[in-house]
Amino acid sequence: MLPFVRDGAQRASGHHDSRPSPRAPDGDRAATFRSVLLRGSAAIGLGVLLTVNAAGVASAHGPQDTSSSDRVATQFRVGNRVSRNGVTLTAPARGGFAWGEVLFQDGTARELMLETDSDGRVFTRDLGSERQAAGADPGTTGQGASSQADYDEGLAGGRTSSECASRSYYSYPWRIPSYRWSLQSASIPWYLRGRTNGTLYVLNQLKYAASNITGADNVCGRGDYISATHTFLGYTSRSNNISTGASCTGGDGYSVVNFGYLPSGVLGMACAYGTSGGVAREGDVRMNLRARWETLPGWCSSETLIQAAMTHEFGHVFGLGHVYSSPQTMNPYVPNCSLSPTTLGMGDLTGFESKY
Ligand SMILES: [Zn+2]
Repeated sequence: MLPFVRDGAQRASGHHDSRPSPRAPDGDRAATFRSVLLRGSAAIGLGVLLTVNAAGVASAHGPQDTSSSDRVATQFRVGNRVSRNGVTLTAPARGGFAWGEVLFQDGTARELMLETDSDGRVFTRDLGSERQAAGADPGTTGQGASSQADYDEGLAGGRTSSECASRSYYSYPWRIPSYRWSLQSASIPWYLRGRTNGTLYVLNQLKYAASNITGADNVCGRGDYISATHTFLGYTSRSNNISTGASCTGGDGYSVVNFGYLPSGVLGMACAYGTSGGVAREGDVRMNLRARWETLPGWCSSETLIQAAMTHEFGHVFGLGHVYSSPQTMNPYVPNCSLSPTTLGMGDLTGFESKY
């Protein structure tokens, strides 16, 4: 659904920017990410008690969801602060989950998810793989396999053909059918806020970003089959529950988008909380003040476009994880000055349609 009407002035013409970019090979990034996860898994080795089998926690959202076999029990308890892969979370209350992602400017990302079962056992979940929908294009591969050909095609022939060719996606075990969020307007950096209507320009880009998900915005010729909605609740003086040290400190039910300081090299961070295997009740996103941001392509020289990064981050809030085998919106690489991530790829669409 598309609750927000776009205006042409801000929905600028560079919509499908296909400029080449110095993007690292997909497979390399995937390998790097997997190695991070593997190191993380090794690090928690002492905490591993068992691996939950598929019967342990059934998914309620169809066959494409993450498998509960990805969950690994730990010795943590409710309320413990857990740091893995550069992400810090607090172990949630029984029946809950907490998730966080740190997105880097170089196209890598780190994630951590904790779930607490009804007995108070705390689990981590491996979020490093991607899945491919049944009937997917045989030319694409799942599980983060090499996609250099796919990738090169995207650079040479425009991104459209590439992002529409793959149906790969990775589904988190939560949904948020109606996302209600606020913007901490005072956090907008001076170089954006100081312009005439600067705050409004930022807000509109955020609204476009959320609507890109809920409105299934795409260049693949596919209609909107995503029932999820979002609502902007207004400006707020409230900060969000993301710390400068890349911790998700929330769970208060308020979804707030803001700018704030995060570690160097980080583009942004997102956090989500909710009922394990169910509905997220909060999704916070922070854009790093150490990065340079821009609203419109025409004003962009080497910055990150807010709409591009935030479409990706809202995609997490709505329940999709990363893909590495094609240039989907949920690929963690956000090229500078490019609005390419603002249109959903066929994998993104397939994933969201499976959830909503
Ligand atoms: Zn991400």
